[in-house]
Amino acid sequence: MTTHSFSSKRLTIIGVGLIGGSLARALRRVNACGEIVGCGRDEAHLKRAVELGVIDRYEVDPAVAVSGADVVVLAVPLRAMATVLSQIAPGLAADVVITDVGSAKGCVVEAVRSVLAERFCDFVPGHPIAGTEKSGVEASFAELFDNRSVILTPVEETDSNKCARIRTMWEAAGANVSEMAALHHDEVLAATSHLPHLLAFSLVNTLASLDERKEIFDYAAGGFRDFTRIASSDPVMWRDICMENRDALLEVLAHFNNGLKQLEEAVHDNDGEAVLNVFTRAKVTRDRFCG
Ligand code: NAP
Repeated sequence: MTTHSFSSKRLTIIGVGLIGGSLARALRRVNACGEIVGCGRDEAHLKRAVELGVIDRYEVDPAVAVSGADVVVLAVPLRAMATVLSQIAPGLAADVVITDVGSAKGCVVEAVRSVLAERFCDFVPGHPIAGTEKSGVEASFAELFDNRSVILTPVEETDSNKCARIRTMWEAAGANVSEMAALHHDEVLAATSHLPHLLAFSLVNTLASLDERKEIFDYAAGGFRDFTRIASSDPVMWRDICMENRDALLEVLAHFNNGLKQLEEAVHDNDGEAVLNVFTRAKVTRDRFCG
């Protein structure tokens, strides 16, 4: 394990689920925190997080949970971010750095700007490009971020020292950190993550409404499972992502629909050469970039 320069006396995680829980485990692995405090809506989930050794203790009141913390991580679904921010605002310490892990960044930046007002500079927007289709603290694991990318999307007002601190936090958790403008992040992630999830949910939903659905799912094999694994992801989280990154998602969806229409026409017209061209270009591209 590489050395890191991150340490926190008290780090508070709001939303101790897959991502929040995995970050806590990863930071514990390198003894980076004096204390990790958790907070969420359901006390049973927080008790479980303590039992699993993911957090040291929990608070059910968000303002109390962040009191005395030098780092606060928001790891709740996107549409819960603004509410959670207004709940924690009264308890924030003067020297705190706040960050988030939300999968879309433009919406979070705007929500934080309006809720935190003059303390907006204390917030560093972030997104770990790592996850699974599972949810909750039980699914969390310390290695989730090892050698994975984390994108920070600081804006002009963001305190550069606080941004550097969050960079070292993710490095301590095993990740490689880069920076990008929030809107660019949202366009890239719409294509690489949000569109594929939308397609997987749509495919399984369409097949589920067919009369032969029992047979379809009984005989589903490798390809179907590979393609649709992500349709087991949390519907609330993905509803939020699709709604909060609407513009970028609609743009890439229009491109996709166009390509699908052309493929449909080629199949309809018995144009095997056109189909082969599409499949070959796709295979070459995937082998080169994901091989
Ligand atoms: P998760 O496993 O469902 O965890 C979400 C946590 O937030 C739970 O502990 C939940 O606990 C808490 N929570 C939910 N709604 C809340 C609310 N209104 N107020 C306070 N706490 C609330 O989800 P996750 O996969 O970790 O995702 C969390 C964030 O990470 C999302 O913003 C998502 O976009 C982002 N992200 C996810 C992935 C991925 O692949 N999963 C990857 C990168 C980033 P209670 O139910 O007890 O409140």
